[in-house]
Amino acid sequence: MKSACCLALVCTFGSATAGAEITGAELDAAATSLNAQVIEWRRDFHRHPELANREVRTSSKVAEHLRSLGLDVKTGMAHTGVVAVIEGKLPGPTILLRADMDALPVTEQTDVPFKSVATAEFRGRPVGVMHACGHDAHTAMLMGAAEILVGMRDRLPGKVLLVFQPAEEGVPEGERGGAPMMLDEGLLEIAKPEAAFALHVGSSLRTGTIALRPGPLMAGSDFFNIVVTGKQTHGSRPWSGVDPIVAASSIVVAVQTIVSRDLDLTAAPAVVTVGAITGGVRHNIIPGQVELLGTIRTFSDEDRTRVIERLGAIATNVAAAHGATAVLEMMPAPNPVLVNDPELTRTVTASLERAFGSDAVQESSLLTVAEDYALIALAVPSVYWWVGVTPASQDPAAAPDNHSDLFYVDEAGIPFGLRSLLHVAIDYLQAPAR
Ligand SMILES: [Zn+2]
Ligand SMILES: [Zn+2]
Repeated sequence: MKSACCLALVCTFGSATAGAEITGAELDAAATSLNAQVIEWRRDFHRHPELANREVRTSSKVAEHLRSLGLDVKTGMAHTGVVAVIEGKLPGPTILLRADMDALPVTEQTDVPFKSVATAEFRGRPVGVMHACGHDAHTAMLMGAAEILVGMRDRLPGKVLLVFQPAEEGVPEGERGGAPMMLDEGLLEIAKPEAAFALHVGSSLRTGTIALRPGPLMAGSDFFNIVVTGKQTHGSRPWSGVDPIVAASSIVVAVQTIVSRDLDLTAAPAVVTVGAITGGVRHNIIPGQVELLGTIRTFSDEDRTRVIERLGAIATNVAAAHGATAVLEMMPAPNPVLVNDPELTRTVTASLERAFGSDAVQESSLLTVAEDYALIALAVPSVYWWVGVTPASQDPAAAPDNHSDLFYVDEAGIPFGLRSLLHVAIDYLQAPAR
């Protein structure tokens, strides 16, 4: 009891002397009054989605807003990225807040009034374009956070590096982009952050809940191609050729043993998926070549190295057993494992629990999806969290997943995302010097 009294006294005294401190209640009030505007921005982006490295309209809207706040805005980073620094009037640390801006080649099937009817060309084919991963919400939230933080600049300690990143979903073939390109172009030289934060909206969580975990959160991802070469012949006379379709089929089955037989599954999960098989043109021709496209997901460098090594050995040797050859090619720019800094995750979790209550903050499981923000998290101690956007009345397990043509963002979740950015940022910036 005594210590509780002392604690209360210290708190009262602390807030009285530092009367200018920005409070959580102020942040919540500011988020509430800006909410309609944030939702309007989000709907506008949703109606006008743009594919990776093509976020021209989106980035110009972002830049226009940041300029209207009086910020010095840098555009054109990694093609369409937008960066600005909010300089607080008080001394303090520098943090980075990141949102991604790109949409996906998905034809929207929802019936929201601001549904996308946009189309574009993707891998040479006409496609619908949809914000099927919620990056429209991320961009709008960070624009809102920027406006609120600029409004509090007189009492803001430190600096906030705002990063609106293109091409999180991957770049068109032959192009570069996204987080690795922004880093190469000197993102972290613009203002050297000592901590970085980002969030993602997710269908697997109910509105009002947030999920995160210390350490690895999302998998490292690699893409691979395997070209299997045989000898083309007539479909009626397979003995006169070498059938790469049978060899490729055996490879697809054999690589399933990598996860089940070669990795320590008690340490971490892993995935090997073949997502495309291309070969042949008609019923009665055995083709000369088959191409397999796939992805691997791992949570450690050791597992990644092991999987790639086994993938190559299995492809080469299984093909050889069929008299064919196989060549494994790993695609450039893999995503590393996204790791939440353990100590920083503790302080962020405390901030989120203070803002939303401890019941609202859950420990996330390991996720086999991937994020190029992982590269920023490798360079700067970082925390990344998930924000629920499935209405409370719905079962998240049955809700259309991120990337589905029916993916739906419950807009009641948007203020949770915005408030989470504000609380985490302000708690970090106002914390006593570390
Ligand atoms: Zn996505
Ligand atoms: Zn995403």
